[in-house]
Order: sequence, then structure tokens, then C-alpha cells
Amino acid sequence: MPLMERSLPARVLVALALVVVAALVRNLFDFWIDGQAAFLLFALAILSASILAGPLAAAIAVFPSLLLGIYFSGFRETGAVDFVEAALFLLTAAGIILLARSSHGLKGRIRESEGSAARRAAEADVLAEELGLLIDGAEGHAIYLLDPEGRVTIWNKGAERLKGWCEEDVIGLDASVFYPSDAIASGKPADDLARAARDGRFDTEDWRVRKDGSEFLADVSITALRHPDGSLRGFAKVVSDITGRRASEEALRSQESHLRSILSAVPDAMVVIDDQGLILSFSAAAEQLFGYSEAELLGANVSMLMPSPDRERHDNYIRRYLETGEKRIIGIGRVVFAQRKDGSTFPMELSIGEATGEAHPLFTGFIRDLTERQKTEEQLESLQSELIHVTRVSAMGTMASTLAHELNQPLTAVANYVEAVRDMLARPDPGDFPMIRDALDDTAKEALRAGHIVRRLRDFVARGEVEKTIEKLPLLINEAAVLGLMGAREKGIAPRFDLDPYASPVLVDKIQIQQVLINLIRNACEAMAASPVRELSVMSRPDERGFVRVIVADTGPGVDAQIAEQLFTAFTSTKSEGMGLGLSICRTIVEAHGGRIWMEPREGGGTEFHFTLVSAKAEERDDG
Ligand code: ADP
Repeated sequence: MPLMERSLPARVLVALALVVVAALVRNLFDFWIDGQAAFLLFALAILSASILAGPLAAAIAVFPSLLLGIYFSGFRETGAVDFVEAALFLLTAAGIILLARSSHGLKGRIRESEGSAARRAAEADVLAEELGLLIDGAEGHAIYLLDPEGRVTIWNKGAERLKGWCEEDVIGLDASVFYPSDAIASGKPADDLARAARDGRFDTEDWRVRKDGSEFLADVSITALRHPDGSLRGFAKVVSDITGRRASEEALRSQESHLRSILSAVPDAMVVIDDQGLILSFSAAAEQLFGYSEAELLGANVSMLMPSPDRERHDNYIRRYLETGEKRIIGIGRVVFAQRKDGSTFPMELSIGEATGEAHPLFTGFIRDLTERQKTEEQLESLQSELIHVTRVSAMGTMASTLAHELNQPLTAVANYVEAVRDMLARPDPGDFPMIRDALDDTAKEALRAGHIVRRLRDFVARGEVEKTIEKLPLLINEAAVLGLMGAREKGIAPRFDLDPYASPVLVDKIQIQQVLINLIRNACEAMAASPVRELSVMSRPDERGFVRVIVADTGPGVDAQIAEQLFTAFTSTKSEGMGLGLSICRTIVEAHGGRIWMEPREGGGTEFHFTLVSAKAEERDDG
């Protein structure tokens, strides 16, 4: 260990030893020099001590040196000269110690900076090692350096993995070996480096070659590296294989174009929306049906395609479904109204499918236009075998006219018999009595036959026992209203629905009750044809215990006073084309369901038809 790094007492001992040596030497030569230069050797001792043992130890040695110096000069003739020598010695010693101190501090700082330089070098080594690991670990990326001439100088493990060359093979090689031959022929390797040198950085997607000769699509980035003075030091290259990524992008694109071709070809109008109700795609058939182009609608809310009140409520419908999972239309299909770009509305059959994507669900709506009546019938027939209610109304017409024809015969016969009997009784002759009796028998028979025919009509209408099921009333009303209101909006009729969710479910033959609603809605629309205000409301309310009430109200002229009494009797009509059967069928159906039907004048003008149905809630309570 160097003396300077030893403890202070050790260094003081060394300094004192030097003073002792100086004293001995001075003593040895004393008889020669005889009291001369008493302090000289001690000054040398202090100098040596401050070099060898440090300034502090030297300072401590000054005091014994002074005493010894005085000893060697002072015991003879002490005079002014000796004091001057002693003072000079002290000054010299102080100068030596100060000098030693500052050189000592300098040495300390040098040592310190040497230490921190070593520390920094070690830290730099660790950093370099970590960076090397990071670069080597960069999966799918080749990271390497080139010199200004384009030869490889540093090569990482990732580059080895990606390109197949190992470090020993590749260091010093010209980077053009990574290019396909046609690119080399056209001078691309040098061009790329020149562009990087000019612009600082050059990015491209291009084909590159592996050691085994296979090619891959690479994302290449070349950065020029420069010395502080601006001269070119080399290039850093980062290359990644994007063949796989490009292939999946291609697959995605082809899927998209596949979807697009489906969308342009599906005969049905199709709309795809996200979970916010925003339109993602809109098929060619939908463009035709609604009058919007896809570009106008992308990103718009699908509620644009609906009239009120669905327009305002649609966001809630989606939210409710997403929150509760309760399907009211998805996978079920419904008949609802849609609105074209020009504001006109039309009934449509809407079926919705749900695709649960990775992040968000998507909804696909298939739309069938039900505008044309004939199409409506076809669609509904195939979709729900329940259509009968439309056909039944017309079948009823045919049936009724056949029956009217059949009724004509017995009634004519009755009239003939009765007239003959009346004539015979004008001139009573007892001989005619058997004939009169026979004629009256036949009259009775014909009357019974007529009654029988009428009963058959009733049986047909009521279809014997009704087949009741539990139905949601708002849904049932909605569907019936779409059919009943066909063409109504075009005639300026504004429908309004006020359906109480508590007035549901009901126990009914759905088709028959929808027939009642369709009849009432059609009558209301016909009644308002010439009215200035044309408002049609359909309402539902809980009624007296166990029943719900449905009201169809219009702002027409009200029911003709002459027929108000027999309104629900068959063949009561004020219309030239009217059969007068609608309301009588309604009554038959409602009563067969255990309900009542009646008419009330509407406050403020118009008519209200009320009917009641058995609530399925009450039914359950009673059963329980
Ligand atoms: P039709 O419609 O074939 O005449 P209905 O039994 O359905 O047969 O109606 C009988 C009559 O009742 C109609 O001719 C009409 O005069 C009257 N009526 C029905 N509904 C209304 C209404 N909402 N407003 C005014 N009158 C009505």
C-alpha cells in the first residue's frame, strides 16, 4: 500500500523518523560545519516528509525540527543571525507544506475523476450489453449497421434469424447481397443508401432475399449516421418481414370485397349497424328502396330510416337489448314502418341478425318492402302462416255473397207462400185449409233453412272454439296497425299509439283480434277521408279487473245517427261498396273472446270504438 494511503499516526511517525535522520546526519557533520546551516537538513527533512507522508504529517514534524535546529545553532553563540535562520526555516517549511497540500488535493481530484471515469465506463458496458440484448431479442426485426460504403459492420441475432446469415459470414459483406438480383442490376442498393444519406432517412417496402435464396416482403428503414463534424459514419438499417402481415391484410381486403359483392347482390335491402346504431354498410337494394346512397348514410344513425316514434326510441331499443339481452325483434322478425329519403313511409318486414364480433356486436337488418299488396300477401303467407286474417276478410266477402244468394231462395219461397196464403184467406174456403196448412208448413221449413244458413255464416266467422294463446298486446297491435295503415300515411293520416305496457299480455286468438283491429283501423281511415284533421289513435289501458281495453279513435265525422243503433248488426252500411259485415264480425269475435265492443262519440268530434279482452295476468291469478 502506498505510504500516502496509510493512517495519519503512521505517516507522522515516518515524518518524525526523517527529522531524526536529519538530526543524526547534522550531528555527524557538526564538527565540520560547526554551527553553520543548522536548519538546512531539517528543511530537507520537511520537504521529504511532505512528499512521502503528506502535508499534515510534515506540519507536525516542523515543531521538533525547529527545536533541533535551535539546538544545533543555539547552544553555541546565539545571536540575531540564528533567529533569522529559524524564521527562514519556518517560512520555507510553511511554503513546502502549502505546496504539498495543493499538489495533494490535485492528486485526490485526479484519483476521484479516474474512479468516476471507470464507473462510467462500467455503466456504459452494462448499457451496451442491455442494448445488445434488446436488439438481439427484437423478434421479426433485423437491426444492423453499415459503413459509409455499405458494408456490414454490426449484425444482430434478429438479423441472423430473419435473413439466415450469421455474424461471421456477413461482417464486411456488401449489403447488396440482401437485394434480389433484378434490384442489384438496376443499382437499387446504392440508390437506397444515397437517398438515406441525402434525406437522413429512407423508408420503403420492398422484396429482400434470405441466405437460402427465398424472398420476403420487407419493411425497410435506413438511417444515415454522421460524425459530429457532419461527415458520414455509416448507416443503421432496420428490416422486418411483413409478408405475413401483408397476406392477412390481403385476406381482410378480399373478405371485405366479398362482403361488398354480397351486399350489392342480395335481393333484399340489407343494413349493417354497430352497437351504437350507426350504419356500417347499406346494400345496393337498400339504396334503391330508401333513396339514399350508401355514402350518405355511412356513420349515420339507423333511426334516420324510421318514422316517429321508432326514430326517437331506437337508441333505447338497442341499449335495452344490450343491457337485458331481451330479444324483441332480433331473430324474430317484425312488420314495421320505414321512412324513405323523401319522407314517405312504407311497411316493411324486418329481420335482424346479430353477429358478436370480438369487441362489439354488429346487427344485420334484412328488409322486405311490403308496399305492394300482393307482395305483402306472399311474404306474409310464407313468413307466417297466420296471414289468413287478410285472406279471410276477402274469403268472407265471397262466402257472404254465396250465402246471400242461398238465402235468397228460402226467403223468396217464404214470401211466395205467405202471399199465396194471404190471397187464399181473402176469400176463405174451408176446402183450401189443408193447402193453407201445407203452405205454412213449407214456409216454416224454408224459414228454418234460412236460419240454418245464417248459423253456418256465424259458425264460419267465429270458427267454433277460438284458439287462444297468451300474446303481448303492444306487439299484436303494432303488427295489425302496420297492415291496417297501409297507404294511410300517404293520405295524410297521422297515427298515434299510446300503449300501456301494463295492459299486456292478453289471452286471445291473435289472428282474430288482429282482424278486429284491422277492421276498426280501416273504418277509421275511411271515415276521415274528407276530414280536415286526420288523426288516428290506438290506445290500450288496463280495464276493470281481469280485462284490458283497446280504443281506436278517429277525428272523422262520427257515426251516422241513422245506423248508430244497429251498428254491430250484419249488413248495416252507409257505403256504396260496403258489405256492412265488418263491425258485426268484430262483435262476434270480441264476444267469442269473452269481451265487449261498443262505440262512443269522441270528445271534440270523431268516433271511438272500444273493446275489451281478457288479461292473461288476471287469468293466471284466477287459475292460481
Ligand atoms: P262497412 O265498412 O262494410 O260499411 P262495417 O260494419 O265495418 O261495414 O261498418 C258499418 C258502418 O258503420 C259503416 O258503413 C259506417 O257508416 C259506420 N262506421 C263504421 N266505423 C265508422 C267510423 N270510424 N266513423 C264513422 N262511421 C263508421
